[in-house]
Amino acid sequence: MGAGLAGLAAAAELTRRGLQVVVLEARGRVGGRVASREIAGARFDVGGQWIGPTQHRMHRLVSAHGLDLFPQWHAGTKILDCQGKLSRYEGDIPSLPLVHLLELQRSLWRLDALTKRARTTPDPAWDRSTLADWSASHVRSARVRGLLTAAVRVIFGMEPAELSLLRFLGYSASADGFLSLAEIVGGAQQDKVVQGTHALAEAMAAGLEVHCGAAVRAIDQSGDSVHLHTDAGVWQADRVIVALPPHLTGRIAWTPALPQLREQLVQRWPMGATVKVFAVYERPFWRAAGLSGEVVHTGGPLTVTFDATTAERVPALLSFVVGDEARRWGQRAEGERRRAVLESLVRWFGPEAGRPIGFGEEDWAREPWSGGCPTSSPVTGSLACMPALREPVGRVHWAGTETARRWTGFMEGAVESGERAAAEVAARFGGPTRPSASSAIGSA
Ligand SMILES: Cc1cc2nc3c(=O)[nH]c(=O)nc-3n(C[C@H](O)[C@H](O)[C@H](O)COP(=O)(O)OP(=O)(O)OC[C@H]3O[C@@H](n4cnc5c(N)ncnc54)[C@H](O)[C@@H]3O)c2cc1C
Repeated sequence: MGAGLAGLAAAAELTRRGLQVVVLEARGRVGGRVASREIAGARFDVGGQWIGPTQHRMHRLVSAHGLDLFPQWHAGTKILDCQGKLSRYEGDIPSLPLVHLLELQRSLWRLDALTKRARTTPDPAWDRSTLADWSASHVRSARVRGLLTAAVRVIFGMEPAELSLLRFLGYSASADGFLSLAEIVGGAQQDKVVQGTHALAEAMAAGLEVHCGAAVRAIDQSGDSVHLHTDAGVWQADRVIVALPPHLTGRIAWTPALPQLREQLVQRWPMGATVKVFAVYERPFWRAAGLSGEVVHTGGPLTVTFDATTAERVPALLSFVVGDEARRWGQRAEGERRRAVLESLVRWFGPEAGRPIGFGEEDWAREPWSGGCPTSSPVTGSLACMPALREPVGRVHWAGTETARRWTGFMEGAVESGERAAAEVAARFGGPTRPSASSAIGSA
């Protein structure tokens, strides 16, 4: 179930192996956390958008479906808004006094060393403390703590106090380290899809049997096969791949009930909170002023901002409201939210930033079939439940980016997880090609 990238990748792989596959999707569209929206006549990726250089599965898919990449714009001076002080800098090193820069470097080295350990010998004690605990005891400079907090909020949609140290390090290790999560060039924010990432999801879905509007409400595997009760009818399958974030798997009525460990696990994976805000302009005035469009802000409501000019050169800025700010965002009136965004943009880029020709926000916590974004993370003290993350339950297999080993939380991880679950299912059918067998991804 689920026509996000994980479910679509699983279905494509099983189809390739000759199995009969149906994809059941709750929403009226495919893509899940990958979506696009028109603002001022241009299309923007309001969900997952960037692809990093070591995300090889995504590169392969983009190219296989005849799509193209273009680089995230980063030329020019960047802005740091740290504890009420504005400063500008070139390159990747923020404009901080030397003593704070040294502290920042030391903190990154320490995190890097811990990330390397997390790949080989993770310490179970990391599961009992948060990233905020680690920062409080290892980072003396409030400015450096502020910068780390800003990066973590954007990467996870969570506050450092919510994030177990084990999750943070494991996540960094599944990528190419913390810096690769945060950087543009050589990092996770390097490239975008010219046609938009949703075009990729649509291309992956073409040729598959996908039923939208088929929210799976109940899964019954008490008999010789699996029955999926959906808003669009009942499907029967030999095997099912559930390609959803863990917390949504807990909303399904299971017969028999999920094993205890899995039941406990799904209660421990809350989603992050992120709102993407786009302001579209007549001209890229920040570029004319020598600015890259990138801002890092240790306060709120906007934590980071990027140039979001489209491949067709429609000028735009993209800002992220994340963590606690995002949770409160929907409680503010629409006009107030817009005012707050434009006030910040004017502070950084001048009066022209206050006159967009288009404005749009996407609040993922309002999406019932996601519940937040960009990814979910286990709470502290969840280690004992982790063996249930990928362990099949009867005829049910688990996919979704949260189950990935590499680039978990990212589109790359979603594809990896779907391909892994498809291989598990194919193995149960005794090999790569048994055309008579049937399987469902969310499917039936
Ligand atoms: C704002 C935002 C920014 C992001 N930025 C990036 C980025 O720049 N780069 C990157 O790599 N990643 C990014 N991500 C993360 C990336 O989008 C996700 O990791 C990836 O899309 C997850 O895919 P998935 O298939 O695992 O899950 P999902 O996309 O969540 O797919 C699950 C699917 O299951 C469906 N579903 C849920 N419940 C049911 C049910 N009961 N029955 C049937 N169907 C159901 C959902 O509707 C959905 O379609 C971002 C995400 C967001 C939202």
